[in-house]
Parts: sequence; structure tokens; C-alpha cells
Amino acid sequence: MRTVTMAGKELPALGQGTWYLGEGRAPREEEIKALRAGFDAGMTLVDTAEMYGDGAAETVVGDALGDVRDEIFIVDKVLPTHASREGVAAACERSLERLGTEHIDLFLLHWRLDEVWLDEVIEGMDDLMRNGSVGAWGVSNFDPEDISDLLAETGGPGCATDQVLYNLTRRGPELDLFPLLQKHGIPVMAYSPTEQARLLRHGAGLDALTRVAAGYDASPAQVALAWTIRSGDVIAIPRTGSPAHAQENALAGDLTLSEEDLATLDAAFGVPPSPVPLDVL
Ligand code: NDP
Repeated sequence: MRTVTMAGKELPALGQGTWYLGEGRAPREEEIKALRAGFDAGMTLVDTAEMYGDGAAETVVGDALGDVRDEIFIVDKVLPTHASREGVAAACERSLERLGTEHIDLFLLHWRLDEVWLDEVIEGMDDLMRNGSVGAWGVSNFDPEDISDLLAETGGPGCATDQVLYNLTRRGPELDLFPLLQKHGIPVMAYSPTEQARLLRHGAGLDALTRVAAGYDASPAQVALAWTIRSGDVIAIPRTGSPAHAQENALAGDLTLSEEDLATLDAAFGVPPSPVPLDVL
């Protein structure tokens, strides 16, 4: 499994998402087994949020942690509606309770609302880091303007990542956001790396993706994931409720695509000609 340095740690380039877990799409036991299979296969970073199933996903993560908590890096997110200095602390407390742990490794502001005061959020995050509830903080769905505002507020480092929508069909951030983040040493966390499996099922580039995958005896999902983490400073967080898919996804952490195959994928899934507003799901 390739690694990425984030929040001062060497983390796996592939982690596990949890949106829709705990909401009955798959049996709960199966979802727990899927997370455990992913942990065993090296995807020891798990991403969750108070928003997912109104806390239901966090409880699935809590049940999956079992006796391996110390080996797992937990990323959690606070809603912008809770993003005051006190609100961040209260939300963290509730998330810790649902996770059944005393520590969230990386706590993100889920997205920015106009009325969110970044200085308040940062103060709240700093409080949590001081009392040991949180190891590091970051943001999600921040576009270049939001990142610039954040940097103006913090005056420099502090933000451990920007978690954004990024996959073969969503390459806009390569034009403006990623260069800005790279300049300031902020690694990316890519969500919905298979476009919620849509890019594995239909669309203009599917033929190319399938062809490239065949060359590695890999699945299109594995190639989509290997592509997302190809730069070495992106962590992708695919979600699955299937243990078999979790094992399959983890193998993509060791798959390096050739220049020729990257060019084939470039031709099939282009970068937009000019910057576009940051997409969200
Ligand atoms: P993904 O792109 O990870 O797609 C999930 C879908 O892919 C599921 O239907 C899953 O089905 C399928 N899948 C997974 N592995 C395979 C495989 N090997 N073969 C075939 N199908 C597969 O979408 P998400 O939107 O869930 O994004 C990932 C995570 O990112 C989220 O779960 C969440 O943690 C985070 N996120 C963050 C957001 C934010 O605003 N910060 C927004 C959206 C997501 P199956 O269960 O059958 O495997």
C-alpha cells in the first residue's frame, strides 16, 4: 500500500468512506465485515461524518474498530451548522461517543457556509487539539477562494487537508485548487473516487477504463482508484459495504499505471479547458 504524508503521519493512500453505511443498504454485519476486511488489507484510514445517517455511520465505524482502534486513523467531519467555537466542541463530543473512542485523528469542517466564521472554527479545532480530543484539523469542499480566506486567517500552516470531489470525471481541481494546495503543502483527500460507482457502469470513458484494466488483470474500480492516487499526495476514500470489494480496492494501493495508460485515460477523461467551480456531491 502506497502512503501519503498527512497530519504529520504516513497514511495509506487508500482509506475507506462510510457515507450511507448504517442506513440499511447492506446488512450492518456485512458493512462491519467490509470495514474490517479493508483494515486487514491496509486501508487503515476511515472517513466518516456526523451527517452520515445522522450519526449512524459513526456507530458502524465504532463497531468495526473493536480491538484495532490504535491502528486506525479516524477522519470525522463537523457540520457547518455546528461550526462555532462551542459548537465544534459539542459536535466532537457527540461523535466521540458514537465512535466509542476518546480521540478523532483528523477533524474536518464538512463545508463552508457564508455565515461560518473561520476564526471561530479554527479556535474550536485548536481547543480540541489542546485537550487531546482531536489530533489534527482540516476542511472539506473548500474551493481556491475558501482556501485563500483560510490561509489569510491562519497566516500559514495548520490545515491538514482539503477533502474534495475528485475522480476521472471530475478533474477541474487539477487546474486551480490542487496547485494552490500544493504550494501551501496541503495534501488532498479525494472523495467519491468512483463517482459513486457511476464511472464503472456507464459514460464516455468506460471503454478506455475497461481496456486499461484488462492490461493489469485488474478491475475498472482498481484502475479508477490507482489513477486517483497517482500523484503521491492524494488519499482516496472509496466506500463499500462488501468485504470482497474492500479487498479488491485495497489492491489498487499497489497498482502503478504506465505513462501510456495514463495518456489513454487522459484522452478518455479530459481536464476541462478552463477552471470550473468546485463540484460537490
Ligand atoms: P464512491 O465513489 O466511493 O462509490 C461508492 C460506490 O462504489 C458504492 O456503491 C459501492 O458499492 C461501489 N464500489 C466500491 N468498491 C467497488 C468495487 N471494487 N467494485 C464495484 N463497485 C464498488 O462514493 P462515495 O460518495 O461514498 O465517496 C466515498 C466516501 O467519501 C464517502 O463514503 C464519504 O466517506 C466521503 N464523501 C465525502 C463528501 C464530503 O462532502 N466531504 C461527499 C461525498 C463522499 P458496494 O457497496 O456494492 O461495493
